[in-house]
Amino acid sequence: MARDYLKKATMTAQSGSDEVRETVMNILADIEAGGDEAALKYAAKFDNYEGPVLLSADEIAAASAKVPQKLKDDIAFAHSNVQRFAELQKSTMTDVETEIVPGLIAGQKAIPVRAAGCYVPGGRYSHIASAIMTVTTAKVAGCENIVACSPPRPNEGIAPAIIYAAHLAGATQILSMGGVQGIAAMTFGLFGLPKADILVGPGNQFVAEAKRFLFGRVGIDMVAGPTDSLILADATADAHIVATDLVSQAEHGYNSPVWLVTDDRALAEKVMGMVPDMIADLPELNRMNAEAAWRDYAEVILCADREEMAACSDDYAPEHLTVQAEDLDWWLDRLQCYGSLFLGEETTVSYGDKASGTNHVLPTSSSAKYTGGLSVHKYMKIVTWQRGTQEGTKDVAIATARISRLEGMEGHARAADVRLAKYFPGENFD
Ligand code: NAD
Repeated sequence: MARDYLKKATMTAQSGSDEVRETVMNILADIEAGGDEAALKYAAKFDNYEGPVLLSADEIAAASAKVPQKLKDDIAFAHSNVQRFAELQKSTMTDVETEIVPGLIAGQKAIPVRAAGCYVPGGRYSHIASAIMTVTTAKVAGCENIVACSPPRPNEGIAPAIIYAAHLAGATQILSMGGVQGIAAMTFGLFGLPKADILVGPGNQFVAEAKRFLFGRVGIDMVAGPTDSLILADATADAHIVATDLVSQAEHGYNSPVWLVTDDRALAEKVMGMVPDMIADLPELNRMNAEAAWRDYAEVILCADREEMAACSDDYAPEHLTVQAEDLDWWLDRLQCYGSLFLGEETTVSYGDKASGTNHVLPTSSSAKYTGGLSVHKYMKIVTWQRGTQEGTKDVAIATARISRLEGMEGHARAADVRLAKYFPGENFD
């Protein structure tokens, strides 16, 4: 049976339009030329903010004092889980070496970048969890300088809970600046900040386009598009839970696709019947997002069996993938393309988004075909080294000289020749 679309998207998520690209390039050029002043001008223009941009220890303490203790406890819980998972990732980055041939040793080391710029979105929602995800992971990786940058609310600055979370997670500076101007400040080293070696974190189309444009000059974790989620469900799934999970992810944005892939028509029809009422019951902003996302971007796909469901899911390569079906081990073994996988109804994408420990900065728009999400590894460089004895490097020198001459690279050949002549005088290596 071919895939049967019980609901088909009428729109597909587009990344950066020409108009966004041009806006971003103009702002970046203006800020690079105009420095701090120019960045402040855009903060006033886009966020109606003219307060302090680099937070002092007193300002951080004052903001933290405004955060209710219960929320502090929850942030500490989420931070501890994300830290624990990041530490596990770090433990896999062991330095290794091997003797390639007798007397020639080569190895690799993992070295953290020195300065990380963590963008914490703050326009529509207060993304406390993004501060925890990006900053904690940079800290565990071993970055010396970690800037947390988030848009100020008009005339108020960053939400206190974001400041508290970023500080707890290990930010060395907190920058109250959003969008392109925030990205520019971290990249160009404005306001006395260290120039970022890598920019990480989600953001809207302006943030994503700025990161894409600056890539090369600075590292980036990924170019994030609108968040997307896919649920694989069979006849054993609870339709109410499936529908709730779809709605929970559709509220991200008007263009956040959610997809249901199933081999059970009755389940699909039940879920499709429930979703509109659940969306109608959300608070207004969330409802508007979810309504548009469900209307224009959502899909419900009926497959013949679980193998076809898995193949369909791998084609979509979703950012978030949920399985609510029998035999979870089969799915864990079979599925190949996703940012983060949630197995069984006992867990849900919301847990990963906020507090369970795995990172929520994940590849969108099918980029899970070639990359995973934010991890300790993204903040680290794998570099290599070698050393050898005179005898151990003899064959390498001979081969290097011959290959280099064949390539026409006489200078390279002579770097080998000079050593052969020094260590093995009188021998002929032609
Ligand atoms: P944001 O912080 O990304 O952007 C706000 C900034 O956008 C403002 O500071 C302003 O400077 C800039 N801006 C707004 N209009 C502009 C314009 N016309 N020209 C130039 N700059 C302009 O916050 P947001 O807008 O709420 O977007 C947050 C994004 O982050 C959403 O797309 C959300 O889905 C995403 N997100 C993703 C994840 C994930 O892990 N994938 C997690 C959390 C959030």
